[in-house]
Amino acid sequence: MSANGVSIEPRLLINGQLVEASDKKTFPVYNPATREVSANVPEASEQDTNAAVAAAKAAFPAWSALDPTKRAACMKKLASLLRAHNPQLAHLEAISMGQPVRNHIYGVTGASLFDHYAESWQSIQGQASVCTPKHVTMTLRQPYGVVALIIPWNNPVHFFCSKSAPALITGNTVVLKSSEKAPLAIALIAELVVKAGFPMGVFNILSGHGVPSGQILSRHMDVRALSFTGSSRTGKLIQEEAAKTNLKKVILELGGKSPAIVFDDCNLNKAVEQTQHSIQANSGQICMANSRVYIQKSIAPQFIDAFKKRFAAVRDGDPTSKETDHGPQADEVQYKNVMFYIEEGKKSGTLALGGNGKLDSMNGFFVEPTVFLDTPEDAKIMKEEVFGPVVNINTFETEEEAIAKANDTEYGLYSAVYTKDINRAMRVAKALESGYVAVNCTSPLTGRDLPFGGYKGSGQGREGVLYSMGNFLETKSVIIQIDDE
Ligand code: NAD
Repeated sequence: MSANGVSIEPRLLINGQLVEASDKKTFPVYNPATREVSANVPEASEQDTNAAVAAAKAAFPAWSALDPTKRAACMKKLASLLRAHNPQLAHLEAISMGQPVRNHIYGVTGASLFDHYAESWQSIQGQASVCTPKHVTMTLRQPYGVVALIIPWNNPVHFFCSKSAPALITGNTVVLKSSEKAPLAIALIAELVVKAGFPMGVFNILSGHGVPSGQILSRHMDVRALSFTGSSRTGKLIQEEAAKTNLKKVILELGGKSPAIVFDDCNLNKAVEQTQHSIQANSGQICMANSRVYIQKSIAPQFIDAFKKRFAAVRDGDPTSKETDHGPQADEVQYKNVMFYIEEGKKSGTLALGGNGKLDSMNGFFVEPTVFLDTPEDAKIMKEEVFGPVVNINTFETEEEAIAKANDTEYGLYSAVYTKDINRAMRVAKALESGYVAVNCTSPLTGRDLPFGGYKGSGQGREGVLYSMGNFLETKSVIIQIDDE
C-alpha cells in the first residue's frame, strides 16, 4: 500500500522475520474519514501467537544476560528511527483511526521514551541489609521472562513505546499485540525494529483481534507478565484468563469517566478552554477526557455559553490535512457506540449542542461536538464511558455536593478541580477517588515524572518513567549466613 509517500505492507514480526499470517488470513482496515480500505493486515493465528511466545522464550536467556548497554544500543537505534519516521507514523494513524496529523507527535515522544529507558539500566537495583544478625541479606531485581503487551487503538505509538521500552531494558523479551482498529503505524514500527538490530525473538509484534491472539496471550503458560491498556471490559477478561491459567502478573490501565469540578472563584476562561480541549482532543477518544463537568451554579450560564462557543468551532475534516483539528471516530463500531450514548443522553438530559452524526460531510464517521445539561446522576450516560466528543455539564452548590457527585462512579482515572482557594483545592484533591488529580488544569495534561493509573474500575498498577520498569521486574530475596570463623 502506498499513500502520500507512505508505503507499507503490514506483516507480523515473529522471531526476527516479517511474515504473513501462517494461514494467510488478513483483515481490512478502513479509513474512518472516507470508509475506504487503507490496508489489509495479517490476522495472527493461534499458531502465530504461539510461535511468537516460543521465539521470545528462546531469546530470553541470552537477552537477559546481555550487557544492558548492548540492550540499550538497539533501543537507541529504534529511537532515532522512530523520530525520523514521525510524519509517516502520523499519516498511518490518520488513515486507520482518524487522529489528525497536526496533533501527532508520538514518534518523537516515543523516541524520547526509548532513549530514556536505554539510559535507565543503572536503576535496576536491589537492596542490601545487615539487620538480620549474623546474616547479610539482599534483594535482586530480575526480569520475568516473556512479557505480553496488549495496546489499544486510541494512541497506539505512545502505548507501544511506553510499554515495550521498560520491558526490554529490564531484560524481558516481548510479544506485543496491536489493536485491530489501528495496526498500521505499529506495522511500520515492526519494520523499524528489524532495522534497529534486536536479536532474533527478542521483540515480536502481532496484529489481530482480541480473539484469538490477545486471548491466547492472556492464557499462555509461558507469558509471565502482561501489561494491558484498553477497556475495563477487556481488562476483566484478561484478569480472568490469567487467574485461570498461570496467575501471570497483570497490569491494567483501563477506562474512565473523569470529572472536572469548576468553582466560582476560578479563572473562568482558562477552565472553559481546558475542559473543552480535554473532551475534544482525539475526538473525545482519550481515557482521561473530562466527560463530566461540574460547574458551580452561580457561574453556570457564563461557563456553558463560552464552552458551547468553543466546542462548536472545531474544524472537522480529513485527518491527513494539517488544517483539521477534529477527526472522525475510529471506526463504525465506535461511531455507533457514541451515537447510542447520544440517544441515551437525549432521553435523560437536555441537549444543548450537537447531538448528530455527520456522515454526510466526507462519508466518514464524524460526530458533532455534543453537550448535555442537567442529566440525572444515575443516567446511563453519566455512568458509562462514551469515548466520543460528548460532555455532560451539571451544576452544584457546595463543595461536599461536588465531591459526592464526582466520586459517584465505578471509574477513578483522572479528576480536575478549578479554584483559586488552595485549601479547597487540597481538600478536594484528597477527597477525590482518582489516580490523578489536576488543580487548575485538566487532562490530557500529565506531569512528566508522575505515575499514571486508576483507582477502582480504572485499573491496577501504575505506569510512568519512574514506575514502569518495576512492572517488569521480579524481586528475589537472598539471605547469606556468615560463619564465625
Ligand atoms: P479494547 O479493550 O476493546 O481493546 C484493547 C486491546 O485489547 C486491543 O488490542 C484488542 O484487540 C485487545 N482485546 C480485545 N479483546 C481481548 C481479549 N478477549 N483478550 C485479550 N485482548 C483483547 O479497548 P480499545 O477500544 O482498544 O481502547 C479504548 C479503551 O481503552 C477505553 O476504555 C479507554 O478508556 C481505554 N484506555 C485506557 C488508558 C489508560 O491509560 N488507562 C489509555 C488509553 C485507553
